[in-house]
Amino acid sequence: MEKWEENVRRVTPYTPGEQPDFPDMVKLNTNENPYPPAPGVLWRMREMQYENLRLYPAPGADLLVNALADYYKMDPEQIFVGVGSDDVLAMAFLTFFNGKEPVLFPDITYSFYDVWAGLFRIPYECQPLLEDFTIRKEDYYKPNGGVVFPNPNAPTGVEMPLADIEDILQHNRDSVVIVDEAYIDFGGISARKLVEKYDNLLVVQTFSKSRSMAGLRIGYAFGCKKIIKYLQDAKYSFNSYTMNRPSLELGAEALKDEAYFRQTVEKIIATRERTKKRLAELGFTFADSKSNFIFVTHPDFSARELFEALKKEHIYVRYFAKPRIDNYLRITIGTDEQMDVLLAFLEKYRKER
Ligand SMILES: *Cc1c(COP(=O)(O)O)cnc(C)c1O
Repeated sequence: MEKWEENVRRVTPYTPGEQPDFPDMVKLNTNENPYPPAPGVLWRMREMQYENLRLYPAPGADLLVNALADYYKMDPEQIFVGVGSDDVLAMAFLTFFNGKEPVLFPDITYSFYDVWAGLFRIPYECQPLLEDFTIRKEDYYKPNGGVVFPNPNAPTGVEMPLADIEDILQHNRDSVVIVDEAYIDFGGISARKLVEKYDNLLVVQTFSKSRSMAGLRIGYAFGCKKIIKYLQDAKYSFNSYTMNRPSLELGAEALKDEAYFRQTVEKIIATRERTKKRLAELGFTFADSKSNFIFVTHPDFSARELFEALKKEHIYVRYFAKPRIDNYLRITIGTDEQMDVLLAFLEKYRKER
């Protein structure tokens, strides 16, 4: 090791799902939405002022913040936006998790949490999910430096009832609780309204999944005015212009088409429920998912072998070589046609065993 390397902030980075590019592929590995963004977004893209790109965007991201405030009937000062919810979450870790006690999150959860904790040198302690992949709320009642979990949880898809989230808040008046609602629009109940009651709650959402805009990178958070102000102070000390002009304009545009949004979400939910039935018939087991993915295992198949076999057919799903879940596959809900390709393969695969 060279001398200069002693002062390097060394980290183990997050590994995102692969982004292969084959014309015939069935891509069910990164929880993207199979449907395009709202049609108004395309119209807005064409109307966008090329000339304006020479100007910095509004540092307060007002256009998008105000559109979100109108949409959710909240005060603009209760909303923070960022470059995907990953940016919002990273900023929240940096801002709120500065205590000596460990931050608590589930052992099976979004694999970025321990990466940010590592990057920012935040002590943390994972709380094991129960065997059925539910979060045991009592595990979060002990002294801590903060609490964070997705709801529905990823990669399990399991939703925690709102009453349990409120119990966790009741037991954590002295630290910040972050609820990561990346998948909430697929049938879950949001904790958003609880920000009026708990000033230490931050609820994070994204345009990446339910609004089909992963490529634009738009995330946002709800909180009381004070907690949002703390986030903004950290953000403005880091980079004033995180949100680019196209994201602000196109994000605000997407919120206008409620009918399209409802329709796409409903389609994905219908496909999910149909896929659950078929997977169960093929012998797969899974916890009930309220998200746009299903986390499955099969008593007769090795998840890793199945993952490789699927990949050979250009059907991409997600496999995590991690304790407790190394015989599971996370399958994103695509279109009905995509799921039919997957199910046909699984049927053939089962027959050939
Ligand atoms: C996808 C995802 C995110 C991040 O999404 P962005 O594209 O950065 O908005 C955050 N949390 C969970 C649990 C996710 O699955």
